[in-house]
Amino acid sequence: MNAFIVELSIAVALLALVVLPIAVAPLRRRLIARALLRIFRKVMPPMSQTERDALEAGTVGWDGELFSGRPAWPALVSLPRAQLTADEQHFLDHEVETLCAMISDWETTNVHKDLPPAVWQYIKEHGFLGMIIPKAFGGLGFSAYAHSQVITKLSTRGGTVAVTVLVPNSLGPGELLLNYGTDEQKRRHLPRLARGLDIPCFALTSPQAGSDAASIPDWGVVCFGEHEGRRVLGLRVTWDKRYITLGPVATLLGLAFRAYDPDHLAGDREDLGITCALIPTTHPGVVIGRRHMPLNAVFQNGPNSGTDVFIPMDWVIGGAPMLGKGWRMLMECLAAGRGISLPSSNTGMAKLAVRTTGAYARVRTQFKTPIGRFEGIEEALTRMGGNLYVMDAVRMLTATFVDRGEKPAVLSGIAKLHITARNREVINDAMDIAGGKGICMGPSNFLGAAYMQMPVSITVEGANILTRSLIVFGQGAIRCHPYVLREIAAAREPDADKALREFDAAFVGHVRFLIGNSLRALTMGLTGSRLVRAPAGVAPRTKCYYRQLTRLSAALAFMADVSMLTLGGALKRKEKLSARLGDVLSLLYLGSATLWRYEQEGRQAADSPLMHWALRDALYKAQSAMEGVITNFPNRFVAAVMRFVVFPLGQPHVVPSDRLGQHVARLLIEPSATRDRLTAGMFIGDPDEPVGLLERALAASVAADPVERKLRSALRVGRLEAAQLPGEGAAELEALAVAAGVITPAEAAVLASRRELAARVVKVDDFAQDLGTSLLQPREQDADGSPHGRASSAPATRRAVA
Ligand SMILES: Cc1cc2nc3c(=O)[nH]c(=O)nc-3n(C[C@H](O)[C@H](O)[C@H](O)COP(=O)(O)OP(=O)(O)OC[C@H]3O[C@@H](n4cnc5c(N)ncnc54)[C@H](O)[C@@H]3O)c2cc1C
Repeated sequence: MNAFIVELSIAVALLALVVLPIAVAPLRRRLIARALLRIFRKVMPPMSQTERDALEAGTVGWDGELFSGRPAWPALVSLPRAQLTADEQHFLDHEVETLCAMISDWETTNVHKDLPPAVWQYIKEHGFLGMIIPKAFGGLGFSAYAHSQVITKLSTRGGTVAVTVLVPNSLGPGELLLNYGTDEQKRRHLPRLARGLDIPCFALTSPQAGSDAASIPDWGVVCFGEHEGRRVLGLRVTWDKRYITLGPVATLLGLAFRAYDPDHLAGDREDLGITCALIPTTHPGVVIGRRHMPLNAVFQNGPNSGTDVFIPMDWVIGGAPMLGKGWRMLMECLAAGRGISLPSSNTGMAKLAVRTTGAYARVRTQFKTPIGRFEGIEEALTRMGGNLYVMDAVRMLTATFVDRGEKPAVLSGIAKLHITARNREVINDAMDIAGGKGICMGPSNFLGAAYMQMPVSITVEGANILTRSLIVFGQGAIRCHPYVLREIAAAREPDADKALREFDAAFVGHVRFLIGNSLRALTMGLTGSRLVRAPAGVAPRTKCYYRQLTRLSAALAFMADVSMLTLGGALKRKEKLSARLGDVLSLLYLGSATLWRYEQEGRQAADSPLMHWALRDALYKAQSAMEGVITNFPNRFVAAVMRFVVFPLGQPHVVPSDRLGQHVARLLIEPSATRDRLTAGMFIGDPDEPVGLLERALAASVAADPVERKLRSALRVGRLEAAQLPGEGAAELEALAVAAGVITPAEAAVLASRRELAARVVKVDDFAQDLGTSLLQPREQDADGSPHGRASSAPATRRAVA
C-alpha cells in the first residue's frame, strides 16, 4: 500500500512537471514558448517582400473552412448562386448571341489572321471591352458571374474572340484603375476603355522573368523630365516585354517595372519595388513589336519595349503614393480575376467538346453500332461528362464568391489550375473519340482549334505546374490555417514581450488544433465517418459525401500540420509533397462545389450520376494524393503515424464504378434536359454549321432508332432480305421494307434523313494540293458552290465523280 502511494506520488509529481508548465501561462511562456519561438524563427523560410505581398493578397473564405477540419457545411449549402440581372440576361441573349453568330473561327484564323474588322467594331461599340467598368464610367457594370457567363458562351464559339474580350476584363488597366487609380486617372481612362476607344494590354512578362514574374529586370528611375513642354517629376523607364496579349493593337499599355529613386526625389528609399503605369502606345519611345503566333491562335499577342522613355508621375497607377506597390496591386487583382477569366473560357471550351463529341459518338457508327456504345468510348465520355459537371460547379461557385466581395486568392488559383487541367483532359478525350474527324482541320472541324490552343490556358495566369507545386498548398497552408499566419506575424514582431505573448497564444491554439484534428481524423477513420453529422436539409443521398469530405478536411489539417512541423522551411522545396497536399485541398473544393451545385440546381435526379461520379472521383483522387504524401514522406516514423491516423482501417475509397460511368456516358449521347443543363449557355447557331448540324444529326439518329429496330427484326425473321444496314444498299432496303409494309414511307424518310445528316457530320474537309492559297476553299465549294463550312450531303464517291 505504502509503495503504491509512493508510486502514485511520483507519477503525480512527474505529470505536474509536464502539465504545469503547459497549463500555467507565465510558466509556459518562459519555458516553452520562448524556446519554440526561437526555433520557429530559425526554420521559418526566408520571405521576400513580393512573397509576403502574394501571401497577404486576397481574402480567405471557404478555403479557410476546408482547412479547418470542420467545414461549416450549412453556410455553403445556404449560399445562393449568383443571378443575372435583366440587363445582363438581355446582353447574353442578344449582343453575345449576335457576336457569336458573326464569328467563324476558321475564317478568323485562316483569312483575317485576326478578328474581322466588323467583329472588332461590334465588340467595341457594344461594350464588350468594358464589362467590369461601372456604368458611371460608361461601362456595362456587370457582375463577376455575368462576365463569366459571357466569356463561357463566347468560348463555345471561338478562342480568339473569347481571349480578345477576356483580357481587358481581366487583370489589366481597367481593373487596376478601378481599384487603385486616382479620380483623375479614372475619369481620363475608364470611359475610353469602356467604349473601346482605347484598347488596353498589360505587360508584366519579360524574356528573363516568366513564372518568376517578381524578378522582372525592367526598370524606371525617378527623375525630372520634359512632358508637354513642362519640367515635371516622373520616371525614365526601360523595358523589354514579350507574350503580351492585345499588345500589337493596344493603344494603352499597362506596364510593370521596378522603380528606383537614387536621388530620393520621391522619398527615403532607393529600391521602391514593382510599379505599374499606364502609357499611351503613341508616346515617343514606346516600341510595339511584331506578333507572336500562339499555337495557331490569332488573338493579338506580341512583344513591346522601350528605352529611357520618360513618363510623368501621374501615369503611375495611383500616382506617386503607389510607387513600389505594384506587386501587391497585381496580386490583389489576380486573386479575383484569375477565378473568372480562364475558368470561364475553359468551361466554355469543355461545353463545346462535350456537347459535340457526345452527339458525334451517337451519330458515328462503326461495326454497325454508334461508337458511344462501346465501353472504351464510354469510359472517355464518362470522364468528359463528370469533369465538365465539376468544372462548371467550380466556375459558378468561384464567381459567386467574387460577387460577394471576396478576392479568393487560394480558391481562384485552384479554379484556374483544375479547370484548365480538366479541360485538357476533356479535350484530349474528345479528340480520341472524334478520331480523324478531330484531326483534319477545316471549317467542319469542331475540336481541332480548342485542342491546339489548350496549352495557352495551362501556361498563362500562373503556369499549372508552378501553381500546383508551389502555390496552392504553399499559400493555402499559410493563408487558410487558423494559426500559422499569427505565428509568422508574432515571429516578425520586434517587441520581444508582445512577440512572446502572441506566439504563445497562437501556439496553444495550434497545438489544440493539431491534437483535435488528429483525434477526429482517427475516430472518423475507425468509424467510417458514420458519426459525423451531415448538414440538415441536404439531399439524403449526398449526406455520405459531406461526412467523407469532413473526414478528408480533418485529415488534411492534420497532415499539413505534421508536414510543416517536421519539414519546416524545407517543405517549400519538397514540391511533390506540397503538390499532393494541395491536391487534397483542391479536391475538397471541387467536391464541395459539386455538392453546392447539385443543391442549387434543385437536386435533379437525372443529373445525379454526374454528381456521384464527381464526388467518388474526388474522394478517390484525394485518397491517392494522401497515400502519395505518406509513401514519400522523408521521416518514416512520422509517415507511419500519419498512416495510422489517416487510414487506420486501410483506404476506403475506390474508383467510380463502370456501371455509374455508363450512366454518365449515356447522358452525353442522348438529347435530354441533363445534357442541356450540362452544356447550358452554349452557342448552337446555324443548323448547317458543325454544331447545329451535329444537333440535327443526333436528333435524327435518335428518331431513327425504333425504325431501325423494326428493319432489323424484319431481317431476322426473314421478312426482308438485303445487304447491310446502314450503309451501301440501305436506301434500296428501305424501299423494299416500305413495299413489304415493314415500315411506313414516313419512317423511311426518317432513316434517309439520319443517313444524310450522319454522312455530312462524318465528312472532313479537303483542299487543293497547294493548301496555302486555297485553304479557304474546301473541296465542296469548288464542286457545288455551297458556302464554307457546310459539308456536302452527297456521298464522297459521287461528289468526286461530279
Ligand atoms: C499566349 C500567351 C499570352 C500571354 N499573355 C500575357 C500578357 O498579356 N501579359 C503578360 O504579362 N504575360 C503574358 N503571358 C506570359 C505568361 O504569363 C507566362 O508565359 C507565364 O508566366 C509562364 O512563363 P514562361 O512562359 O516564361 O515559362 P517559365 O517561367 O519558363 O516556366 C516553364 C515551366 O516551368 C515551371 N516552373 C517555373 N517555376 C517553377 C517552380 N518553382 N516550381 C515548379 N515549376 C516551375 C512552369 O510551371 C512551367 O511549366 C502570356 C503568355 C502566353 C504564352
